[in-house]
Amino acid sequence: MTSPATGADGAADLPDYAPIPRSALGPALNDQRYYVGRVERNLYWVTDGVYNSAFLTTDDGVVVFDAPPSIGPNLRRAVDEIAAANGVPNTVTHLVYSHHHADHAGAASLFGGDVVRIGHEDTRRLLLRDDDPARPAPEITFRDTYTLQVGGDRVELAWRGPNHTPDNIYIHFPDHDTLMFIDVVNAGWVAIYNLNLSEDVIGYMGAPAIALSYPWTRLISGHLGRLATRDDVAVHQQYIADIDASAREALESVDPVPYYVAGGQNFWAGVKGHLDAVTERAAAPIIAKYTGVLAAADIEDFTRTTTFQIMQSYRLDRGHSGPVHP
Ligand SMILES: [Zn+2]
Repeated sequence: MTSPATGADGAADLPDYAPIPRSALGPALNDQRYYVGRVERNLYWVTDGVYNSAFLTTDDGVVVFDAPPSIGPNLRRAVDEIAAANGVPNTVTHLVYSHHHADHAGAASLFGGDVVRIGHEDTRRLLLRDDDPARPAPEITFRDTYTLQVGGDRVELAWRGPNHTPDNIYIHFPDHDTLMFIDVVNAGWVAIYNLNLSEDVIGYMGAPAIALSYPWTRLISGHLGRLATRDDVAVHQQYIADIDASAREALESVDPVPYYVAGGQNFWAGVKGHLDAVTERAAAPIIAKYTGVLAAADIEDFTRTTTFQIMQSYRLDRGHSGPVHP
């Protein structure tokens, strides 16, 4: 596939973005294009530099947490490599889904046979809906909490309300000082479009505080190439809080009347003019503040679309839709 903007070297022509802060990048990948590292004791994480997966090796077999298709068979290679090095079984006995999205679960069918799949009851509902052979629905489901015990190890799964998706869960490793919570905080990077393509704005905004309410020092966040810290979560919270405050300020200070006057009978043209002006005013100072702090903050559409969603939530969920007609 080529595009008109592709140069002689095969690379597309992109704008000159700010350099990525070194702190946003993770360890180098091996020749197979993956990195596997110990999180603590028998808990490991795997990355291709963009996606994260994790696994626990036990005397009774391996428990895998998410199977992103971009890591794909390298997940199997990583498990085999670590199991061989430690003289433990490499049989994957359990697979835990963080949520139903294909980009984190699409390699689930690689672990066929007798693997037991575990996930939230809404993950099962959504996977049955999506009917994707690459993502078999979990056989074991739960509503609020589930304790997984394998080979003397314990993992606590919990659903604490919708956020990125209706089914996205918290995976706590209480004996490994680690939390796995996917697609809300990107370690060292801004969220991509629309709060990381999230469905529930209020749930997404509140989720980092829930994540921080667990004891842990390392977070497996799903993206990008390194583990996250509690400081990463705090920076993300500040970024979102700044957007929220800026969206309120812009909503209150941009006068909508000139846009609706200009739109005349085309009311939607007035809506677009007004909301574009609010979004632009709200997002500009955030983009400036976080460029150089969070990687890709200067990809303006990411912060703008996130700002638009939060501004809409402020109007629709939190009731700042304007005065009631007299
Ligand atoms: Zn997702």
